[in-house]
Amino acid sequence: MEKTLCNFNLTGLKLDLLCKGIRMDESAKQRLLPPYKYKRASLSEGRNFELYLNGRATVVNLAVYEKFVKDSPYFYDDVNKLLLNDGQEVTKIEMVPDPEWYLDKLDNDTLLGSYIQVHGTNVLATSLSNYCVFKDDNAGCKFCGLTLDKKNRRKDPGMLAKVLNIIEHNNPGKYAELNINSGTLRSDDMGADMYISVIEEIRKISDIPLSAQIAPMRKLSHIDRLKDAGLNSLSFNIEIWDDATRERIMPGKGKIPKSLYLDCLEYASETFGPANVSSWLIAGLEPQETTLIAAEEVAKRGAVPFVTVFRPIKGSLMEDVEPPNVETMFSIFIEVESILKRYSIDPRNGNCGCAKCDCCSVAGEVLNYGL
Ligand code: SF4
Repeated sequence: MEKTLCNFNLTGLKLDLLCKGIRMDESAKQRLLPPYKYKRASLSEGRNFELYLNGRATVVNLAVYEKFVKDSPYFYDDVNKLLLNDGQEVTKIEMVPDPEWYLDKLDNDTLLGSYIQVHGTNVLATSLSNYCVFKDDNAGCKFCGLTLDKKNRRKDPGMLAKVLNIIEHNNPGKYAELNINSGTLRSDDMGADMYISVIEEIRKISDIPLSAQIAPMRKLSHIDRLKDAGLNSLSFNIEIWDDATRERIMPGKGKIPKSLYLDCLEYASETFGPANVSSWLIAGLEPQETTLIAAEEVAKRGAVPFVTVFRPIKGSLMEDVEPPNVETMFSIFIEVESILKRYSIDPRNGNCGCAKCDCCSVAGEVLNYGL
């Protein structure tokens, strides 16, 4: 049966929203803080929503600020908390407000929101550095909106732990994890030491599950070191599989051999457990067949293929490129579902990480409710 708005279930509606974004009045778009600088392919600085349909609920991060959103049939009625499609009421939806603590400050005037942000409703996230070796070499990923910080300033591990401590103290039990990322550093360990110093500092004050996104490193022992420091979940993001597309869209990062990603994913899956290791795959930038080959190769290594919808984010070199349509995404996710089942991989079982949060994808809904 052809999927139309009338027969979308929650999975289909979330997927359609991820492809099209959501319009809203300017007043509803206001944020407590300016957009953060680390913006990659999918999440960007989109807004988070709680979406309800037929007695079910989910959380989704949607494009709001990107150019393509102006053509979306979806509109967020902020007053009545409704999702409209071409002016017709679809269902209940509610934007997650920025937490008030974004504006709280440390004694040295550092805003808490400049160190840690919220993804979804209950995931904390931080970017350790806005430096990326590929951007610095003029070979950055074209889908990436990172604003390069040539000075390679890094978040201070002690201050990060302090900020986390305040947030957890004032919001007991509210946040489920802290997700740590960074641009790619110019070092053999791909930044593992930097991550470890942060993880060690955090472990002095908190048991919060920690996930990290990092580039693959040649010495697999760094993966053990990350685990020993107290990390719970790890992702090595292949993003694109097709070699010609990798070269065109990721001229720097695309030179890292895919075999290195797969080796790191396999080793990390054995170390952290399968549902705790994942790889972002961006659907919509290459033929769907190669996205699916990537998904299968990742799953074969025991890791979660975390398939997301390409979002042409504002400020990136691809901001004018169209995102994929929902029909394409449906046929991709039909296959992703069977890959996950074939390899007995269930992202819902992870401790933490993007694949567990799922606000940028629909794997959890596909497994819960089907397409
Ligand atoms: S590796 Fe690519 S996506 Fe990641 S920060 Fe660098 S340019 Fe952006």
